[in-house]
Amino acid sequence: MSFDDVVSQPHITTTLRNQISAGKTAHAYLFTGSRGTGKTTCARIFAKAVNCLSPKDGEPCLECEICKNADAGTLPDIIEIDAASNSRVDDIRELREGVSYTPELCKYKVYIIDEVHMLSPGAFNALLKTMEEPPPHVKFILATTEVHKVPSTIVSRCQHFDFHRIKTEDIVSRLSYIAGEENLSLDGEAAALIARLSDGGMRDALSLLDQCAAYSDKIDINTVSAAAGIAGRDHLFDILEAVLARDAAAAIRKIDELYEKSKDLAVLCSELITQMRNIMILMSGRDARDLIVCLPEELERLEKMAAGTDIDTVLGLISILQQCSERFPRSANKCIELEMCAVRMCSYSPAKGTVSASGVSDRAVSNLMDRLTRLEQAMASGVPVTEEKKPIAPPPPPKPLKKFDPNNYTPLEEWKELLGIINEKAPALGSFLTNSAACIEGDMFYLIVASDVALRKFKRSNDSAKLKEIVNGYYGKSFGFMLYSSHDVDMEDQDNPINEIIKRAKSNNVEVEIKNQN
Ligand SMILES: [Zn+2]
Repeated sequence: MSFDDVVSQPHITTTLRNQISAGKTAHAYLFTGSRGTGKTTCARIFAKAVNCLSPKDGEPCLECEICKNADAGTLPDIIEIDAASNSRVDDIRELREGVSYTPELCKYKVYIIDEVHMLSPGAFNALLKTMEEPPPHVKFILATTEVHKVPSTIVSRCQHFDFHRIKTEDIVSRLSYIAGEENLSLDGEAAALIARLSDGGMRDALSLLDQCAAYSDKIDINTVSAAAGIAGRDHLFDILEAVLARDAAAAIRKIDELYEKSKDLAVLCSELITQMRNIMILMSGRDARDLIVCLPEELERLEKMAAGTDIDTVLGLISILQQCSERFPRSANKCIELEMCAVRMCSYSPAKGTVSASGVSDRAVSNLMDRLTRLEQAMASGVPVTEEKKPIAPPPPPKPLKKFDPNNYTPLEEWKELLGIINEKAPALGSFLTNSAACIEGDMFYLIVASDVALRKFKRSNDSAKLKEIVNGYYGKSFGFMLYSSHDVDMEDQDNPINEIIKRAKSNNVEVEIKNQN
């Protein structure tokens, strides 16, 4: 009703009141700020106050004929235009004609143009012409959420006020006041949840209060969560707890369950991102709780998860979820996409960057995912699925062979760990790697085995392929492989095509290249 009722914008209401009481108002104003921050409300109060027959300190009296008519919306001199539905030149032309007539009842004709950024370029031009030569009896108030879409020629002719998001405590006290007026019981926790859910917008907060009142006139946190549709989100926390416990099976089971219940998996993914963000925020500081919109028992679970993990893991998991969400629109099977995402999260380890604890790299998973998607698309479009043939690549340019010295190299620190993985995944290979060592130089992986038997073993294409797969998977890249032994080796395996290379290699300190023959 009056400037005094406007919440959280004292920098604007004080200035406007001072201008009105001093009789020094501008002829055009631009009100900017996000939705529900009070732009249109302020515009209406201004229109009323500037015309009020007995204003007090710049406030409308609310009792004179003008104030009463303005509040009833029956004042012909206060004209509200929604630019979203009146964006054409013709609409503004009408406005220009109207501007030339003097007001009927008031001192000033006040034009309030809402969502002004929606005007067409032609309409902006027409408006600009009017604003360039404004009749003294006209005031303009332009309001917008997107000031960057308003031409600078317009902006420069207006006094510009930027409306801030309304503070949570201001919304809470306003809600409590209104609840009191309406004989609703609203507890503090519920009011705070409404305020946080409406993200600094008073209009959203009031309409949520309205929805709550439709449920019950005793509004507590359960009423709010039911009205706002945030009840029953346990599944989000179940999934994230499984992920942080590295229990991929449990996470996938939960995802499948939701999929069967027809839950929109893209929505699920973005909800998971929101909850991971909440965990991140909780880890960032003591006052962080205010920034999180959730129920008390949800907060408890989030805090437990935050306490049990570290920020690098959380950041990594958020980015894995975001990649999944970006892939969704192109994905033929969203359920598999999200399951892959869960597996990737469960095996994520920040210490090794993209490399996971289980030895499956992000890139390996992502390649697999891409192949799967292609297969699915092929199936969906009725193309018979055949083994994908690799295009015949032109032979690589001959690379000068860098000399590796098996007697002088920096041994690979993580070889022991890698050996553990090999032993686990391919025990038959592991036993041949006793007392072996390895070295990485650039894109080359050098394996130095202890015995001739081992050298022969890894010469076999199946065994070498398995080894390459594990090593490449561990690092998430594709290495060239070279095999060494310090022993003099006898290589007379007639049916192996590598023999030629070995023979050449033998004269060169026994370098054997393992070729993948698949
Ligand atoms: Zn009045």
